[in-house]
Amino acid sequence: MTDRLYYNDSFLREFDARVAACEPADHRWRVRLERTAFYPTSGGQPFDVGTLNDVNVLEVLDDEHDEVIHITERPLKVGEEVHGVIDWTRRFDHMQQHTAQHLLSAAFLELFQFQTVSFHLGRDISTIDLATPSVVPRHLEETERRVNEIIFGDRPIRIRYGTAADLAAEGIRKKLDREGTLRVVEIEGFDRQPCGGTHLSRTGQTGMLLIRRCEKQKQNWRIEFVAGFRALAAARSDLALLRSAAEQIGCGMTEVPQMLTKIQEERRTSQRETKRLTERLADLEAAELLANKAQRSHDGANAIVSAIFEDASASYLAMLAAKLVTNLNVRTILASRSANAIVLAQSAGLDGDMGALLRELLAKVSGKGGGSKVFAQGSMSGSSTADKIVDALTHSLISAIS
Ligand SMILES: [Zn+2]
Repeated sequence: MTDRLYYNDSFLREFDARVAACEPADHRWRVRLERTAFYPTSGGQPFDVGTLNDVNVLEVLDDEHDEVIHITERPLKVGEEVHGVIDWTRRFDHMQQHTAQHLLSAAFLELFQFQTVSFHLGRDISTIDLATPSVVPRHLEETERRVNEIIFGDRPIRIRYGTAADLAAEGIRKKLDREGTLRVVEIEGFDRQPCGGTHLSRTGQTGMLLIRRCEKQKQNWRIEFVAGFRALAAARSDLALLRSAAEQIGCGMTEVPQMLTKIQEERRTSQRETKRLTERLADLEAAELLANKAQRSHDGANAIVSAIFEDASASYLAMLAAKLVTNLNVRTILASRSANAIVLAQSAGLDGDMGALLRELLAKVSGKGGGSKVFAQGSMSGSSTADKIVDALTHSLISAIS
């Protein structure tokens, strides 16, 4: 069995060891050492990376025989003595997050009897899942405060060994059902937790813990947190975001929320105003088109209004068409060059099918659209076709009514 040096010294960054085995696997090598300080993925904590002599260690895992397997880029000679170096930035970050997790889980239990059911240490954020029906902001604030109190107290963290019975007698956070000697991480006067992970030696090294988010996950609540350098990075990026928002709005950082409320109110007001004015414009434009631009049948009973706008939106065309056909015996064809849109409509009670007419014509110019007997709309493939389509439709309508 591999001698796991990190069990007793999680601050060991370099070590020497003999290569016990090296086998090819999938263009990589599986290297076993007699002893190692490399941590294999387990208990929620990801593996270490680093080097063995000048060979990169890409991944580290536990195999089924309880051996640590180093996945390397190149082979190493069996029997050879190698020098291992752990990527310390990555490892120390993992230690900060993992110790923070023990603190967080212990504080939730101490204050509110919320049990932690799982832990994930991610690349950017870490999470624990709590078995509880509800978590409210007060729980988060009080727990965060309690954890940071323990961090600032700079309590020693020790590794202890014992059987399940010994440990149960002393009091332990998690129920134990494993045989033999167990490893326990003890935070003085605060928490004892069975764990095989690498931990800090004092709580102060955690720096600070920040709870970032909380959301319901099936029957549990998931808490996102960052600690150590990640907390520093999170605070820094929050500040940068807030500063950028404040600059864009043109106010101080503390005024961002009330400025956003004000901007939203202004936007709602101007949307209402735009809608009112658009309706009014459409009323006037409909009356003007009908009075001055309509083509009439010989008896004057039927009117056709066709118009092409340079820059109307599709919704404005629809609004205008709807207003035109509230009059009796009106058929209308409206198009917009900027929106490549076309709308056909007719007053209720008239013969003919606007939807069918539009589909038939658009098919010839590779446009898309459709609608009902009284109202149809579509989009044309290019503005240059607007004149042709409107012309063709107008002619076919005129011949239908004359
Ligand atoms: Zn742990």
